Amino acid sequence: MIRVNPNYNKLQASYLFSTIAKKVGEFQASNPDKDIIKLGIGDVTHGLPPASIEAMHKAVDEMAADETFRGYGPEQGYDFLREAIALNDFASRGVTIQADEVFVSDGAKCDTGNIQEIFAQEARIAVPDPVYPVYVDTNVMAGRTDQCQDGRYQGLVYLESTADNHYVPALPSEPVDLIYLCFPNNPTGATVTHDELKTWVDYAREHQALILFDAAYEAFIRDDTLPHSIYEVEGAKEVAIEFRSFSKTAGFTGTRCAYTIVPHDCRAYDAEGNAQEVHALWTRRHTTKFNGVSYPVQRAAEAVFSVEGQAQIKALTDSYLHNAAHIREQVSALDYDLIGGQNSPYIWIKTGEDSWNFFDRLLNDAAVVTTPGTGFGTCGEGYIRISAFNDFAKVEEAMQRIVATLSI
Ligand SMILES: *Cc1c(COP(=O)(O)O)cnc(C)c1O
Repeated sequence: MIRVNPNYNKLQASYLFSTIAKKVGEFQASNPDKDIIKLGIGDVTHGLPPASIEAMHKAVDEMAADETFRGYGPEQGYDFLREAIALNDFASRGVTIQADEVFVSDGAKCDTGNIQEIFAQEARIAVPDPVYPVYVDTNVMAGRTDQCQDGRYQGLVYLESTADNHYVPALPSEPVDLIYLCFPNNPTGATVTHDELKTWVDYAREHQALILFDAAYEAFIRDDTLPHSIYEVEGAKEVAIEFRSFSKTAGFTGTRCAYTIVPHDCRAYDAEGNAQEVHALWTRRHTTKFNGVSYPVQRAAEAVFSVEGQAQIKALTDSYLHNAAHIREQVSALDYDLIGGQNSPYIWIKTGEDSWNFFDRLLNDAAVVTTPGTGFGTCGEGYIRISAFNDFAKVEEAMQRIVATLSI
């Protein structure tokens, strides 16, 4: 008899986006003339940078001719892209990353989800709360947790991110081995300072732990004092893996290209306490289970690092940050506490009431879709997330309606 993986039965159905979709559908059906504005889901809305499109077209033409056609490429990505990443994302910030420490993939979601399988079943896992759900669910699937009770899986350590700690969690009071961090954060939009990040790196070094640092929103950082990479902290290479993506940076959510940095210095330990190179493990996993990102997409990604590409993605992220600034300004004027939206496309608002009630009010009275914070974890109750991914005109209209609704 074929049995199911029993761990899948522990997963809490994610009612979040399906419930939102259902509520939005019902609202639209009973209000057919209302123009609903969506500031909910974390997906970009503007087209790809022209430099990427041009490079992709050229690469597609190469694929059409036998002389320039390419079949399977290296699983870890073409050298042209790995070198461009090492140079532009790291060397330019004083961090030395070798091209062979860059693993190109089809998404940071897959990479942050898959990485756990190279670590021991017994690894003690720490996840932020609120959290990007991928970190949690993939550890549940792998059997590292018990059942879910009151919104939390037994066996995980939750790193609470609240107003009291400015949404940067404190070190755990119990020992942990694998630590997921995400800055600029989804969903809170919070950022981490160099000193705060150093606290985590020092903790990991002291406890032979490993940090999984999700930097998917790095391109939104405008404050020069903030670190873009965890490797800007000395000693991080031994204890951290970093995830990046072209999705939010350059509008690749539907095109698919991301990368993970696994330094040669990064270590994990066997049962006898002997150190092993994590790089070798990830190479094995990646080359066994993945066959590379398509050539035209890697060329499109490479073009992001050209002079024109850099200017274009700056303009793209600037436009979303302009939206975010407007959302911040309008909501702050109503005396709500909020964070994010300055070096991040997300604004995290303390509602003063139940997340879903607040969500319902904004949908029913303002016809604006947001995301209830409770969908991201226990600490998200009483918050909503507003996303800045839209056109400025839509954001302006949405904020006029929200202000009218909340001012009553
Ligand atoms: C959007 C996002 C990613 C990127 O995912 P891709 O699979 O590369 O599109 C990664 N981490 C977080 C926290 C995100 O919000």
